[in-house]
Amino acid sequence: MLIVMQPQSSEEKIQKVISFIKERGFEAHVSNGADHTVIGAVGRKVIDKRDIELLDGVSEVIRISSPYKLVSRVFKPEDTIIDVKGVKFGGNYIGMIAGPCSVETYDQVDATAKKLAEAGVRVLRGGAFKPRTSPYAFQGLGEEGLKILKEVADKYNMAVTSEVMEVNQIPMFLKYVDILQVGARNMQNFNLLKALGEIKKPVLLKRGLSATVEELLMSAEYIMAGGNREVILCERGIRTFEHITRNTLDVSAIPVVQKISHLPIVVDPSHATGLRDKVAPMSKASVAAGANGLIIEVHNSPETALCDGAQSLCPEEFSVLFNDLKAFATIMKKSF
Ligand code: PEP
Ligand code: MN
Repeated sequence: MLIVMQPQSSEEKIQKVISFIKERGFEAHVSNGADHTVIGAVGRKVIDKRDIELLDGVSEVIRISSPYKLVSRVFKPEDTIIDVKGVKFGGNYIGMIAGPCSVETYDQVDATAKKLAEAGVRVLRGGAFKPRTSPYAFQGLGEEGLKILKEVADKYNMAVTSEVMEVNQIPMFLKYVDILQVGARNMQNFNLLKALGEIKKPVLLKRGLSATVEELLMSAEYIMAGGNREVILCERGIRTFEHITRNTLDVSAIPVVQKISHLPIVVDPSHATGLRDKVAPMSKASVAAGANGLIIEVHNSPETALCDGAQSLCPEEFSVLFNDLKAFATIMKKSF
């Protein structure tokens, strides 16, 4: 249920409404818009909406039948803009994240990050805990990998994102990363989502391999219901009958999500296509479709990468692409 307050309602009136619904067993989630405040009442209790409509300062009470509430544009009409050390995702901003699939060595991350920083990238990616299909494949360096990422990122004044796989890893991640990434394979790890709802750092939530847009939004709802409002959605390709690319990039998910939700959506063209030469065209398509950001795999030596070399760009290719994308962004009246 959404309670829309009258424009310029006083804080006192807002607090009275919040107490009223809390006393009746609901959680209150407040969204302060440009001219009016919306209170999301989330709970399973039954309440007569007329009792709320009669409260001072209340303009309208809307029952929401859709399964997602806090992620919905009905709850928050304005785009959510998430700021990570000055890099913005959402609204008219496009955030760029780039870096290797996995952290392999200090020198590898340093060499890649140096070139990326020169190209203007300010958020570095890199997996330290890798969810690999085969248990015999490189599993990542673990905490050592996170330390390397942070050290290199600090050196070049960048922020860091890396994938967290388990609830008990969260305190460790909070020490090293600025955005906690939930991988496609964990999109419906509900215990992990609930735990990430309690932290105060942005979460990059990747769409599951076979997840619908609605399931992606419901997973975001888990995080937001815990109190964390900073969720960046990520379209990273879905599994279809087509095998010529690693996955099939669902470009239409961008405008579909943006209509339903205020949350930013970024695109990962690397995992979506699995092929280096497809990364540039799909990045451009994503920006043209309105993406709020991109996450692109870049390796200083893709041929020798321990993971996903075939889909990784070398820094020079990335740099050319990033310049092209800035021109596309201008056409879209957005900026990186
Ligand atoms: C990744 O970004 O490193 C990754 C494993 O991606 P995904 O979870 O989308 O497969
Ligand atoms: Mn990868």
